[in-house]
Amino acid sequence: MVTELQDLTVNDALRRVLDTVEPLTGERVPLLEALGRVLAENVVARDNMPPFANSSMDGYAVRSADVDAASRSQPITLRVMADIAAGVVSTIEVTAGGAARIMTGAPMPSGADAVVPVEDTSEPWRDPERKLPKQIAIYRSVKQGDYLRHPGEDIKAGTELLRVGHVLRPQEIGVLASLGHATVAVVRRPRVGVLATGDELVTVESALQPGKIRNSNGYAQRAQVAMLGAEAVDLGVARDTEESVRARLAAGLDAGVDLFISSAGVSVGAYDVVKAVLEQDGDVGFWRVRMRPGKPLAFGVYESVPYLGLPGNPVSAMVSFECFARPAILKMAGHKVWRRPQVTVRMNESIRSDGRESYIRAIVTREEDGGYSAITTGSQGSHIMTSLVLANALVIVPEGVRSVSPGERLSALMIDWPPAVF
Ligand code: AMP
Ligand code: MG
Repeated sequence: MVTELQDLTVNDALRRVLDTVEPLTGERVPLLEALGRVLAENVVARDNMPPFANSSMDGYAVRSADVDAASRSQPITLRVMADIAAGVVSTIEVTAGGAARIMTGAPMPSGADAVVPVEDTSEPWRDPERKLPKQIAIYRSVKQGDYLRHPGEDIKAGTELLRVGHVLRPQEIGVLASLGHATVAVVRRPRVGVLATGDELVTVESALQPGKIRNSNGYAQRAQVAMLGAEAVDLGVARDTEESVRARLAAGLDAGVDLFISSAGVSVGAYDVVKAVLEQDGDVGFWRVRMRPGKPLAFGVYESVPYLGLPGNPVSAMVSFECFARPAILKMAGHKVWRRPQVTVRMNESIRSDGRESYIRAIVTREEDGGYSAITTGSQGSHIMTSLVLANALVIVPEGVRSVSPGERLSALMIDWPPAVF
């Protein structure tokens, strides 16, 4: 049977992919495992942060009224009543004419309302071995509240601190730790089954044999999945037979994958058996996406699992992953933003295109004027992986444009940010 392939723009194809996949459910994980993932619960602050009034400096806790007139030329001498280290609550009360040596982060003693930094006293030593002086000369005045950190100044107990959908970066992990969250509910990591297909493929460990190539897509796509913080499940290589493809997909279903990604076998070649299997068993459509590299793409559902069939050529597979699989996986992982940073670049080279939306492997450089310029990384053949190795961006030549002259401006999808230097 010859299927008429649907002809779609990149945008239309992406919209259909995104319409089919949904964010996964949440799970509770140890705090550090939540890094880079998306919050699946609102977090209300349990405590004030800081939890108690404390000193922001190593110095002397004083009553500000006592040192109002203090200066370097006319210091005011106070009696040292206590030594307060971080982690210790002092029970003393600083009375008129008194002071307490205090360390950064130590709780303020009652009676005192400000801290004089140690540098502005007659004992500018931070050495804990050093004996506590009986008296201290204060060389400056301070106002009430100076060098104090107030309870709740950062976070007030009871406030909604983080909402569902927030991406957890190191700073959120730190804040959650400060509030005592040893675990946190985040969206599950998508499990992505990665399948390579083709009779020509041998494993990476194999010596090359006549007519064979190593399965590079299986690695490149699993690496792409890993870069998104998702979990790649290796479904190995299917031979160009329907039974072999079915067996590998069954293994994926057993492994509970949330998404299938395969490469090759979705075109119109005589051995494109992935297409045959999906047409029989799945609800998968075959598209001719008006893009370069790329073009053949399969997308739909196989046994209730979303299925994305990428082209076989290594660059086409990676660029199609970038355009379709990456947004789908990020959406499944709960992210709201799936676009790479995009910048306008001045092309320093002419480009020819066949009128399809083209993703040109390029090096984007920041210019002295703050703008960006781009040159291609050489041959744009869909089997030339080295031009992807050299690239830090994909410059997009819009549909309908057949030639670009030096100096023209285009949009570049940054696959590395900031622009890497090679
Ligand atoms: P196909 O879509 O099966 O016609 O494959 C297109 C091209 O991609 C052919 O040159 C294949 O040898 C190549 N190819 C397919 N799968 C892989 C793979 N897993 N690794 C490297 N190259 C591949
Ligand atoms: Mg093939």
